[in-house]
Amino acid sequence: MDSSKLAIQGGTPVRPNLLPYGRQWVDEEDIRVVTEVLQSDWLTTGPKVAEFERAVADFVGAREAVAVSNGTAALHAAIYALGIGPGDEVIVPPMTFAASANAVIYQGGTPVFADVEADTLLLDPAQVEAKITPRTRAIVAVDYAGQPCDYDALSIIAAKHDLAILADSCHALGARYRGAAVGTLADLSAFSFHPVKHITTGEGGMITTNDPVLAQKMRLFRNHGITSDHREREQKGSWFYEMVDLGYNYRLTDLQCALGINQLRDLPAWLERRQAIARRYDAAFGEMAAIRPLGARIDVSHAYHLYVVRLELSRLSATRADCFAALRAEGIGVNVHYVPVHLHPFYREHFGTGPGLCPVAEAAYEEILSLPIFPRMSDADVEDVITAMRKVLGAFALSVA
Ligand SMILES: *Cc1c(COP(=O)(O)O)cnc(C)c1O
Repeated sequence: MDSSKLAIQGGTPVRPNLLPYGRQWVDEEDIRVVTEVLQSDWLTTGPKVAEFERAVADFVGAREAVAVSNGTAALHAAIYALGIGPGDEVIVPPMTFAASANAVIYQGGTPVFADVEADTLLLDPAQVEAKITPRTRAIVAVDYAGQPCDYDALSIIAAKHDLAILADSCHALGARYRGAAVGTLADLSAFSFHPVKHITTGEGGMITTNDPVLAQKMRLFRNHGITSDHREREQKGSWFYEMVDLGYNYRLTDLQCALGINQLRDLPAWLERRQAIARRYDAAFGEMAAIRPLGARIDVSHAYHLYVVRLELSRLSATRADCFAALRAEGIGVNVHYVPVHLHPFYREHFGTGPGLCPVAEAAYEEILSLPIFPRMSDADVEDVITAMRKVLGAFALSVA
């Protein structure tokens, strides 16, 4: 049997089943703590919400944490708390999930795209500065792939122009920048607990901040803009409440918070496992001319939500789409993060964006692949990814003179 024949051409795949790019880890203890809440008095807002908030705040070293129903709600609540509205501009990178920019629009603001740096795909501070106008109110700093943005550079720009910084840290729970934890580096930091993220509550989100006023605004916002919650009224024996602003039902349930508290206990070990997988990939791919891992800065601790490589297409007889299809056929669940947000039809139609606006992100988009990385991957899984990359890129390699 010829093991070099690509699965997409009828050869034997490296793996019989698809290895996903990310996956949750739920154990017996997780199931036990959720079952306990199911048997308690409080299914939604109860004692587990404040407990989970305290646990996340303590983990990152922030004063406050506010739990919400998902990462998108976290971004929306943060944009609300910053008071952003019609006429206000917020600078956002294009290399992110659409929610980073959508949250600005939910409150009537305008997202303005600033390009990323070629090696890290993180927001480029020089591009941020170039996009500032008298209407600019805030910067959304996306910690892409799990690597913190250059917060020192962004903070200098923000102070100079009186802007707020909202960190979209949905990729970066547990990352550090120059010794400081993600979650403490911006005015507000948003996290997601979707199953592919570092810890999961099914759906879930959190905002951390050192500002109790902003935290209070977000607690109101997640509960319809109402000044007390059901449990507080029960405890006081009172029926009276007031709605003082327009909010949403963005509450996270006690069931989910119990799961989150338990998941958080495993996070340090999971981060180490992600970093170990990344080191193995770095070593293997350092020797392959057709791929370049993204740059990792020496002054950060990278949380590796994603492991992203760029294909050197000039060395290959294939496109990224061909490589993607060939790797999938080998049983490797590669993915692409992301289609630049400013290229989506909604943004082109309503905000007049399009190709040419962020050339660095657009060029990167043609070449990137996200490889499987999650704590439960075995060493054999990791080697399968490396074997499949060698096989596919070897088959597509051009002999460079
Ligand atoms: C996952 C993610 C979100 C949204 O989180 P949800 O919990 O899915 O709503 C926002 N921004 C980024 C960068 C993300 O990766």
